[in-house]
Order: sequence, then structure tokens, then C-alpha cells
Amino acid sequence: MVLINNFNSTEEVQGSTIVRCAGNEVFLLLFSYNKNLWKLCMMNWIFVLVLALHWYLSLFCQTFYLHRYAAHGMFRLPYWLDRAFYLLTFLAQGPSFLNPRAYALLHQDHHKFSDTEKDPHSPHYYTTVSKMMRKTFEDYQALVRSPEGLRAGHYYPTWPILDRFATTWSHTVLWLVMYALIMSTYVSASWQYLFLPVHILMGPIQGALVNWFGHTLGYRNFELPDQSRNTLPVDLLLMGELYQNNHHQRPMDVNFARRWFEVDPTYPIILLLKQLRLLRFSQS
Ligand SMILES: [Zn+2]
Ligand SMILES: [Zn+2]
Repeated sequence: MVLINNFNSTEEVQGSTIVRCAGNEVFLLLFSYNKNLWKLCMMNWIFVLVLALHWYLSLFCQTFYLHRYAAHGMFRLPYWLDRAFYLLTFLAQGPSFLNPRAYALLHQDHHKFSDTEKDPHSPHYYTTVSKMMRKTFEDYQALVRSPEGLRAGHYYPTWPILDRFATTWSHTVLWLVMYALIMSTYVSASWQYLFLPVHILMGPIQGALVNWFGHTLGYRNFELPDQSRNTLPVDLLLMGELYQNNHHQRPMDVNFARRWFEVDPTYPIILLLKQLRLLRFSQS
């Protein structure tokens, strides 16, 4: 901090304060005083906040509803809450909405054939992430159109009107227009529009990160026949999904963390819902 004594006069020019001291002009760089700069910073924070909110809302729907509930059936929900989370997933994932039944079938194959040629998305059979995700998308689309391999006794959530609408071009175009309009109200620089594809492809991007890094990068707590890894010791980025090695060892365990330092942020939320008697575990 610089203290200026004996200044002769001050004046404000374009939001900055000019202090004249012994005939010389000294600019006081008051960060909070420059209104334009302050406004720009606020807009940047809104941009980061919206991106983070969308990331974690979409991710929570994927790990909680699509993965742990629809694919594994780790817990059961009352019907109204099942519908509420279905709708939330539809809204949070928007143009990249993942059909819960198709997601569940694809994921069940991932566990059944993990890191073999029949695995729908093993990184050990593709040279790039995009090639892996293209094949995953083709398999997923085939399951959306004609579901095969439904397991008897397993509940697969469906909502025919929403599921049909999600396969149409009008659904995609509607979301794209809405995203562009919403972004135009808060972006402060044109480069921020580069993040529009991230919003549009939020679900598949998160899936690709888990599928690729969760089976190539990280440490192993358990020696398993597959190549699963725990990529992050503290997985705050993907809410526990990057503990693939732990998850493959005990696929029905609601808590993906095992070691004392590992944190699965989704688990406490599930425990809270259980405490509130809004869900019950399939296995106790
Ligand atoms: Zn896996
Ligand atoms: Zn799984």
C-alpha cells in the first residue's frame, strides 16, 4: 500500500482517480473504483458460475440418476421422485440428454465386458477419445431406437413422450437457440462463446472423461481383470465417477470412495436423501 500525503488536488477521469502531487499527476489504480472494470469482472464471474452450475447439475444427474440408479439400481426412489429426477436430467443435459434406459443398457455392457472387445467404450481399443466416443454414440443410438438385452427384474426408467421428443431435430434446435439466447445475456467477451459447445455436449464430455481416463490414468486399489483406474485421489471434478477401479471392484457399493483420503461427493447427498426417507438402498 502507498500512502500519498500532501496532495494538491484530485479529479475523476473515466472512472479512475487522478491525484496531483507537487505538480505531478499520480494515477491511483483503484481496482474497485473503475466501474467498467468492476462490471467486466462481475460478468466474468457470472460466466464461470453458470458454467460450473451447469457442469455439476448435469454431472449429478449422470452419476446419481443415470449411473447409480438407472444402470445399477443401487437404490430405489418413490415414483414422484423418479419422475422429478428424470425431468431434471432432461432439463440439465438439454441437447445432450442421455436416454436413461439406453444409458443403463450400455453401461451394463461396460461392466459385463470391461476392457474387452465387447466393451462399448474401452479406451484400449481406440487410438483417440473421439474415435471411442463415436463408437459409443453409434451403440447408444442403436439402443435408443431398439432396446436389446433388457435384464429381467431390473427397472429401466422411461418417459415415452420425453424420450421421443429428445430424438427429434426440433428438440436439438430448440435447446441450441435457448442456449445462445441465454449466453448472449451474460457473456462479457466474444471468446466466451467458445464454451457454447461445452454446454451443448455437457453429458457426452463428462462421459468421455470418465470412460477414457478412468481406464487409462491413475492408481489401482484392487487388482482386477480390467484396466480400471482411480484417476483423482480426491475426485471433486467428476463427483466420484473417476474412482473407476473402486467401482469395478464393488459395482453395487453406493460409495465410490475406499481409502481414507478419497472423497465421493455424491455419496453424502445420497445419504442425506436416505435420512430424509426419500430413497432406500437395494442392498443393506
Ligand atoms: Zn469403467
Ligand atoms: Zn457402473
